[in-house]
Amino acid sequence: MDSKYEAVIGLECHCQLLTDSKLFCSCSTRFGEPANMNTCPVCLGLPGALPVLNKTAVAMAVKAGLGLNCTVNLESQWSRKNYFYPDLPKGYQISQYDRPLAEHGFIEILVNGEHKKIGVQRIHMEEDAGKSLHDGFPDSARSTYLDYNRSGVPLIEIVTRPDIRSSEEAYDYLTRLKEILEYLDVNDGNMEEGSLRCDANVSIRLKGTEKFGTRTELKNINSFRFVRKAIDYELSRQADVLESGGRVIQETRLWNSDEERTVSMRSKEEAHDYRYFPDPDLPLLVLEEDWLNSVRQSMIELPEARRHRLTTTYALSEYDAGVLTMTRALAEFFDEAARLSGQPKAAANWIMGDLLRFFKDSQVDLKDLTSPPVTPRMLADMILLVEKGTISGKIAKTVMEEMYKTGKTPDVIVKEKGLVQISSSGELESIVDSVVAQNADAVAQYRAGKQASLGFLVGQVMKATQGRANPQAVNELLRKRLAG
Ligand SMILES: [Zn+2]
Repeated sequence: MDSKYEAVIGLECHCQLLTDSKLFCSCSTRFGEPANMNTCPVCLGLPGALPVLNKTAVAMAVKAGLGLNCTVNLESQWSRKNYFYPDLPKGYQISQYDRPLAEHGFIEILVNGEHKKIGVQRIHMEEDAGKSLHDGFPDSARSTYLDYNRSGVPLIEIVTRPDIRSSEEAYDYLTRLKEILEYLDVNDGNMEEGSLRCDANVSIRLKGTEKFGTRTELKNINSFRFVRKAIDYELSRQADVLESGGRVIQETRLWNSDEERTVSMRSKEEAHDYRYFPDPDLPLLVLEEDWLNSVRQSMIELPEARRHRLTTTYALSEYDAGVLTMTRALAEFFDEAARLSGQPKAAANWIMGDLLRFFKDSQVDLKDLTSPPVTPRMLADMILLVEKGTISGKIAKTVMEEMYKTGKTPDVIVKEKGLVQISSSGELESIVDSVVAQNADAVAQYRAGKQASLGFLVGQVMKATQGRANPQAVNELLRKRLAG
């Protein structure tokens, strides 16, 4: 895009709430069930069926609102969004319109090392539509099949202010959003399965001007990678249109990931096209202050706050803090190991150095560490064995690997394999003697002033004891022996 233009981007994300049942009926929300298994008169929109609100869904939406720094409204309202589509049998979607659940929040992103707040204009709750299946059947050329399993699944729509200025910022916003929702256990962040869907409103304007240009809405961006590509494509397309003397048309455009371009889908609906009105089947959504407070109290520490704590309290680097808070499960694993061992730095090093590699090799899901092969308790115990001098740091690596392979505790491994560190001078002296006798050259070099030769000799003793010797003790013994 020509640098005389500036991008103005807003994102609208639909996030499926992780409830077991739908928003207004007790049908299951499980993904991948046989078509139309999870349906009832309510979510099929049959005449006379009445919606009953799912309280857990509201609690999750409220958590999201609090996590995104929003004001949660004690009163909000359900409205009908009217449109006709085969996957919407009622002919309207129950959503929230002029009185949303939460408003005026923000997410902090990092742009070139600077913190920037992206405003969250509103979060409202709504039900999902069903799914039209256009391929995969013998008569797909002539027919479309409908699966209503998804119909009525609870969603929140999170709408940003037009504060985003580049595809990079959009990507970072989404990364932070996904992370926060995952920490709160309200959404699984899966763009490929459609539980997190994102549309982008994109326009450009001349730098230094206030007035927004005409925007287009990009849909069908179903991966994080495509968010950047789709926005970049659209920005340069709009710049080309303006440069050639044309004007941008307000419309909805679909991202085509095979051709890597956006294509016009339809002219964009305005809100009045949907004839919103309050749903007469549902009362106002009224939250009691006490209940709201109980949700507030159940909020866990969010990733940004955790990173801050890790860098300030534990003196870890920004990078380390970033890795250790990648997922809530990993962050909690670290915290537990740090607490039990009293040695956060060592816990961080072991997790980042060895454990993450093991987890990766055996494809352990970092989002779910409920029964890891190595528990925080085991890691902490091992750190304490090193601290007490029972095993050397070198042997600890072997113990770690063995713990991971067998699930045995470090104490058992050390006992079974006879890995206890040799610190007593009596036992070490004879080994030191034989190493000195066998390495006359190195001994002579050391005596001639070459300090590095001492390291070599220590290494020989470690080798002779299969790493079990206490390096400090060996060092001292050797120095004494060679001084004489
Ligand atoms: Zn149902």
